[in-house]
Amino acid sequence: MGLMTGKRGIIFGVANDKSIAWGVAQQLRAAGAELAFTYLNAAMEKRVRPLAESVDARLILPCDVQNEDEMVAVFDAAKETWGEIDFVVHAVAFANREDLKKPFSQTSCDGFRLALDVSAYSLISMTRCALPVLKKGSSIVTMTYLGAVRSVPAYNVMGVAKAALEASVRYLAAELGEQGIRVNAVSAGPIKTLAASGIANFKEKLRVAEERAPLKRLVSQDEVGKSSLYLLSDLASGVTGEIHYVDGGFNTAAG
Ligand code: NAD
Repeated sequence: MGLMTGKRGIIFGVANDKSIAWGVAQQLRAAGAELAFTYLNAAMEKRVRPLAESVDARLILPCDVQNEDEMVAVFDAAKETWGEIDFVVHAVAFANREDLKKPFSQTSCDGFRLALDVSAYSLISMTRCALPVLKKGSSIVTMTYLGAVRSVPAYNVMGVAKAALEASVRYLAAELGEQGIRVNAVSAGPIKTLAASGIANFKEKLRVAEERAPLKRLVSQDEVGKSSLYLLSDLASGVTGEIHYVDGGFNTAAG
């Protein structure tokens, strides 16, 4: 019996095999969970479908988190397939490259709205859409970064979006605790992914993190997956509203 045997859930945010969400999915599957996946658009589907099939996904569906109808359709399909679900993984973020490149004070209003909508509000709308199918004892995990609580060079509007995301984790956890639903975030050290390629000087961020992190190395997609597995499992049945650092975050002078 695996830690997640008999548990079922949906993973939002796989783009390719480098995605943090894919690291989480592999850990969940190895622990016995049944999985469903979403992809952003047709271009992403080509990469996501074979990965999802390789872990016997029960559902593989489109979902742009800015489109609530698509989100509702995902949870409706989960209800039809499984009745109820045990977990949701939110590993979705986006900001315009131009807004990340400019000095922070030059962030456009549209760019601000877009980053906050996709990267923070989507956790709220996703939770709302998930509520009708979430079991008592279920768990939601999202992905954040140190830039939410410190000014990390070039992280800019995404840092503000992550601050909103972390606050949303605490408010959702407070609201849903009575229903036995837990909400947590994993704050991962820098990992080379598609989303990370939009951040200026990302290579330098990796070098600095490696030099200053307590473990004196970068963290892997699998390590983020293992921490997420813990938070999604019954091992963390008493843990909610937490920002869980995978790389010693607060001890690191990120740069
Ligand atoms: P990634 O590019 O593999 O994943 C980002 C995902 O967001 C992609 O699957 C993309 O399709 C999806 N996405 C973007 N806009 C969307 C929309 N409108 N609707 C639905 N999906 C949308 O990169 P990643 O680094 O694995 O990012 C996953 C999460 O981890 C993000 O929240 C990111 O901020 C966070 N994170 C990343 C790092 C890092 O260094 N890579 C560190 C800490 C936290």
